[in-house]
Amino acid sequence: MANQDDFEALTRHALFDIDCAEAVASLLAYFDGDLDDDCGARIKQHLEACEPCGAAARFEREFPIVIADRCQDRVPDALRSRIIDALAEERQRDS
Ligand SMILES: [Zn+2]
Repeated sequence: MANQDDFEALTRHALFDIDCAEAVASLLAYFDGDLDDDCGARIKQHLEACEPCGAAARFEREFPIVIADRCQDRVPDALRSRIIDALAEERQRDS
């Protein structure tokens, strides 16, 4: 289970003074422009350097409905799979 250990080490590791939990918790404020310049810049650096957080950021920015997904029963399974498919296509185009 080396990969799981790596993932846990990564999620605990602070990149640019911000750990992953803080980066993800700050995503909405970041996109809303609610962070000051210094904090916003560190979030941006973290998102660019940290693959899991960067993916979460792209997901939240490009698919705002995912925010509503926190009330899971409001998002039909078919819509969820369409979003996931669209994200997979987007990532293939990026690479
Ligand atoms: Zn991270």
